[in-house]
Amino acid sequence: MSSIEIVDNTVSQLSLLLSEKKLSSFEITQAFIDQTNRVDDRVHAFLHLDEKNFLKQAEESDERRKNGKTKGKLDGIPIALKDVISVEGQPLTAASKILENYISPYDATVTRKLKDAGVIIGGRLNLDEFAMGSSTENSAFGPTHNPWNLDCVPGGSSGGSSAAVAAREVPISLGSDTGGSIRQPASLCGVVGMKPTYGMVSRFGLAAFASSLDQIGPFGKTVKDVSLLLEIISGHDPLDSTSFPREVPAYGSLIEDKLEPSVIGLPKEFFGEGMDQEVRDSVDKVIDFYREQGHKIIEVSLPTTELSIPVYYMIATAEASSNLARYDGIRYTSRSKYSENAIDVYAKSRGEGFGEEVKRRCILGAYGLSSGYYDAFYLRAQKTRTLIREDFNRVFDEVDTILTPTSPTPAFKFGEKSDDPISMYLSDIYTISTNLAGLPAISVPCGFTKNRLPIGMQLIGKAFHESELLSIAHAYDREHNFGCESPQLV
Ligand code: GLN
Repeated sequence: MSSIEIVDNTVSQLSLLLSEKKLSSFEITQAFIDQTNRVDDRVHAFLHLDEKNFLKQAEESDERRKNGKTKGKLDGIPIALKDVISVEGQPLTAASKILENYISPYDATVTRKLKDAGVIIGGRLNLDEFAMGSSTENSAFGPTHNPWNLDCVPGGSSGGSSAAVAAREVPISLGSDTGGSIRQPASLCGVVGMKPTYGMVSRFGLAAFASSLDQIGPFGKTVKDVSLLLEIISGHDPLDSTSFPREVPAYGSLIEDKLEPSVIGLPKEFFGEGMDQEVRDSVDKVIDFYREQGHKIIEVSLPTTELSIPVYYMIATAEASSNLARYDGIRYTSRSKYSENAIDVYAKSRGEGFGEEVKRRCILGAYGLSSGYYDAFYLRAQKTRTLIREDFNRVFDEVDTILTPTSPTPAFKFGEKSDDPISMYLSDIYTISTNLAGLPAISVPCGFTKNRLPIGMQLIGKAFHESELLSIAHAYDREHNFGCESPQLV
């Protein structure tokens, strides 16, 4: 099998090829490195790739396999991580100049779990600085390009993670999702991306943006691959006090079980104005598919949806302003050369190190938290967040899953929204409320526009019902497999 053919395989296929000894982890990893070298000067999904270290881990996996000591299904499979997830001894920049020279002194819990499962970790993937954005245009190291059309954004903030999978530079990757940062780029790049229930995956070792919303989650070409990866990274972690003590089901095999007819809700607020017609047509076909499979489709209402963007931008910025206070020119970060006293060190290091969007958010968050404004902004946003959660609870008394588009439009052009923060913020209108409610949600590719730009649909589940959510997503995905189509890059 040539290296170009290898990279088109799913993880499930690669895992089979490994166990049948038709391919080694070294050959697989080399094939993905070759592909990265062929395409990444145009895609720019990677911020850093340590090829030697990548291949060394692959050799170790092959050695384990030879000795019958394979650690699991994904032993020997390469992965790359969004550059906010710590890997001991590797850089972590969060795509910010302020962390340009930072090296992680320890592994994130997800990293340790991947290592324990024998997954081969290589490379750091691009993002919007500190995960703030929807296009990767906010990366201090230049944007990532959408592999389906290099003039378009890959979405964000995990645009490197989605583009790397779409461009066949890795078979799977990890991202983080605070308001849509896994699902929206997955949708724009034509791959599968999932945000688990808040508390399902440990955040220990994730550079925090908004701690009550952040979740790490998987990307892959198929729902099956994402299920296999989720199984590895989930689970209780005493190092993260918000992680939930719960058994992790065997998602990878559970999704193959026979699916009972269920009830799927279509929230009318998600199907109104602002949605691109081609997106609408593709999602309509998904609805038809589920109906034909015997599921009951009903219209539901989530009336607080329109409040989710303002609520999110109050809570997320408040938490960001406090989380990012640690980057002060003293610890972690680069220090301004021009400081004359201690206050100067803080102000100038932060002034020089942070980009525009990060500064905007720190200022906005600090404002909402300041005395005199706290009750009117932050407290009110928290109360409204409760209403948003209650809306979902009410709907989930009636339905098993909620189906929506993931993004109102397909991938947009560079510069199209970057001068207008509000229009950029609106591209997360369908994803943000699930973070506020803490629910699991997945984006699955469901077609292409006539210009061959991918379209994604979103399925939202009940808290901790990942198995059911993945099963219903898999039922669609295994019949359509849009994530297995390759963009023309080589
Ligand atoms: N695009 C949203 C924002 O800019 C969400 C980001 C995210 O999920 N990390 O905040």
